Amino acid sequence: MMKTTTPSVIPHYLNGKLDERGGASASVFNPATGDVTGEVFFADEALVDEVVAAARHAFNSWRNSSLSQRTSILFAFRQLLVEHANELAGIITAENGKTNADAHGELSRGLENVEYACGLVEHLKGGFSNQVADGVDVHSVREPVGVVAAITPFNFPLMVPLWMVANAIASGNVVILKPSERDPSASNRLAELLTEAGLPEGVLNVLHGNATTVQELLTHPDIDAVSFVGSTPVARYVYETATAHGKRAQALGGAKNHMVVLPDADLDVAADAAINAGFGAAGERCMAISIVVAVGAIGDELVKKIAERADKLTVGPGNDPTSDFGPVITKEHRDRVASYVTGAKAEGIKVVRDGTALLNRPGFFVGPSLLDGVAPGMKAYDDEIFGPVLGVARVENYDAAVKLVNDNPYGNGVAVFTRDGNAARHFSRDVSVGMIGVNVPIPVPVASYSFGGWKNSLFGHSHIYGPEGFSFYTRAKVITTRWPQPSDSQIDLGFPRTR
Ligand code: NAD
Repeated sequence: MMKTTTPSVIPHYLNGKLDERGGASASVFNPATGDVTGEVFFADEALVDEVVAAARHAFNSWRNSSLSQRTSILFAFRQLLVEHANELAGIITAENGKTNADAHGELSRGLENVEYACGLVEHLKGGFSNQVADGVDVHSVREPVGVVAAITPFNFPLMVPLWMVANAIASGNVVILKPSERDPSASNRLAELLTEAGLPEGVLNVLHGNATTVQELLTHPDIDAVSFVGSTPVARYVYETATAHGKRAQALGGAKNHMVVLPDADLDVAADAAINAGFGAAGERCMAISIVVAVGAIGDELVKKIAERADKLTVGPGNDPTSDFGPVITKEHRDRVASYVTGAKAEGIKVVRDGTALLNRPGFFVGPSLLDGVAPGMKAYDDEIFGPVLGVARVENYDAAVKLVNDNPYGNGVAVFTRDGNAARHFSRDVSVGMIGVNVPIPVPVASYSFGGWKNSLFGHSHIYGPEGFSFYTRAKVITTRWPQPSDSQIDLGFPRTR
């Protein structure tokens, strides 16, 4: 039964302070109970204008901050994130629903990005060429782009903001972070900790809102760059709108990730990986495995091993340490996820395990489901379900597996399981996908590489975080220099003037 007792107001975080202004609002839920726990107010047009103007003002001084000042702040911030790890994980679990262990995992992957940003002196180094022509030198510098809008999804309410915020402010930009309205509190806490670490007021602002707020940010003339992570239709729209309004944009979208199991693979290892990558965080990861591709005759055995493991999973509240995964984000999403299972039979799919019995529980729970025999043209194969539903596709051989992966309109992640290094090497070269795991089911790059998919999983050419992050948040200047000897110079500087 849903309760609505004293939900707290979730304010914006503007100019170093919490700010409760706003027009329309939305309820924030605890997905494990279905209770309303907060009310988040959306910025209206006037507030967006005010915040962008303040951000532009803050940029004038932050762009001139020394690299050592930025480095000290980021080191202090890193320390505060570590000290507040339990509190931050609690906030994530309370609004997103993922388990406390997953919330800690999310924090540590976000922390990596702060650590990478701490090396900003190295990342922002320019180049220098001496004597390119007689008496002429050339050097390059990278300068911040300006005011960055960072728009983030619900499924990693701390990590994805850290992907963007750490590198953007390290590069001298000012950020307006518009987190998901479904779990907005982690972003506020992140901003408070950055202020505590010494970040000047107004360099990071958290502005809550919905699609209308995003539209205002995308079209605002004083925003210079947009980093977006979310679903594919919105990513496409964000990229097209932002670039049409003269901004640089990177927009990461949805996914349908395959895990190809070759006939020589260790099927116990593969089944363990499929369980973790398919059902972990209730399948609400953009790098989750949603399709296991069984190559050759291994299908029956592999399905049996995955089903045995799925039967042992415990689904429960994220703050219960015995839960393997928690609820999904909303009631509407739970019902949508369940519809792929209830509709599977009609599509000719065998439902090996049906997780819809959990729908009767309070909260937004759906159990693990395993669908055997999915194929292109079926909704359960074509759509990004974004829930604990794992499909198995059966193909005859390696070529058919690669074709299946490459024909898919998404290209975020893919994994291959095999004991054959040569086959794995060929696979890595043959697939049109941005991130590839060899016996690694969720190949999210470490922070010193960049994250990005291909095809409908990324709009724009720049991947996010790592070296491409620094590149996206800066623009190059090249300075060509010549110091001719002044013809009227009377002062003897003590070196031969003829040189
Ligand atoms: P979403 O697209 O619904 O929302 C993302 C952000 O866009 C939110 O801040 C939201 O307020 C805003 N938004 C929503 N609708 C909008 C609209 N019509 N116009 C403008 N802005 C809008 O995504 P979500 O449901 O929060 O997150 C899940 C999706 O994100 C999945 O598709 C998942 O695959 C994807 N995702 C991708 C990556 C990646 O790195 N590629 C990472 C995490 C999540």
